[in-house]
Amino acid sequence: MRCIFCKQNTDKSKSEEHIIPASLGNLEHILPKGIVCDKCNNYFSRKIEKPLLESFYFLHARAINKIVTKRGKYPPNDAIHIDSGINVKLIGEKDGWSISASTEQEEERFIKKILTSSKGTIIVPNPMQPSENDKYVLSRFLGKIAIEVLAQRLIHIKGGLDEVIDKPELDMLRNYTRRGNQNLIWPYSERRIYPEEKWFSSDNGQNYQILHEYNLLYTPDKETYLVIAIFGIEYAINLAGPTIDGYMKWIDSNENISFLD
Ligand SMILES: [Zn+2]
Repeated sequence: MRCIFCKQNTDKSKSEEHIIPASLGNLEHILPKGIVCDKCNNYFSRKIEKPLLESFYFLHARAINKIVTKRGKYPPNDAIHIDSGINVKLIGEKDGWSISASTEQEEERFIKKILTSSKGTIIVPNPMQPSENDKYVLSRFLGKIAIEVLAQRLIHIKGGLDEVIDKPELDMLRNYTRRGNQNLIWPYSERRIYPEEKWFSSDNGQNYQILHEYNLLYTPDKETYLVIAIFGIEYAINLAGPTIDGYMKWIDSNENISFLD
C-alpha cells in the first residue's frame, strides 16, 4: 500500500488516521493504517492540527462544548471575574464548571473575593469564528480532510485508492497540505449555518449535538468540493484548484441552503 499524501510505501506504518482530530470529538471517522503513512500522520498532527486546535477560536469552541482531550481532560476556557478583575479559567465538569484563578499567585486573592461576596459576574470572551491569522493553517487542515474523505469514499472500490494517489489533478492540494506554500492561502468558503452549541432532537426524543458532518459535492461544472460543518460553521474547499467561484455559484443557485441540510 502507498500513502495518499507522499505516495511512499506504507507497509511498515502503524498509524490510523483520524480524518477529524479526536480532540474535536471525532471517534468514528478514521482511516485504517496504511492509508496515511506514520510520517505524514505525525506531520499533520504537529504542524497543522496542534496549532489549529490551540488557536483562540478552536480552544474556546472545544471548551464550551466540553470535548475531552486525548488525555481525557476538558480544555480550559479563559474568562474574567469582573468584580475582582482577576483572569480565571473555567473548566468543564460532567455536571457543571469548575473555576479557578489563571495563575497560582492570584488564587488566594480570588478565593477571598469569592468568599466575601454574595454574587459575581464571569465574562467569557467568545471569538465566534476563526481569526484571519488562522487561515493558512485552517485551509491546509481542510485540504487534508478533503483528500482523506475522498480516500474514505473510494477505499472499498477496487483500484480506488490508486486513483486518489495517482490523480495529477489532486497533486496541488496534496502538496499544499503536506508541504505548505508560503505564497498561497488556498481559498475556502466559511459561513455559520447553526449556533456552535446547537442541540438537535432525534426521533427517539434524545438530544444530540452535531459537532461535525461532511460530504463531497460534485457541481454541475464537474468540480469536487469538500463541504464540512465544524461547531456550526460550514466550510467548503475545492479539491482541484485554489478557487471557490464554483461553490459560490452553486450556493447562489441553491438559495443559500447548505449542502449538508
Ligand atoms: Zn506519507
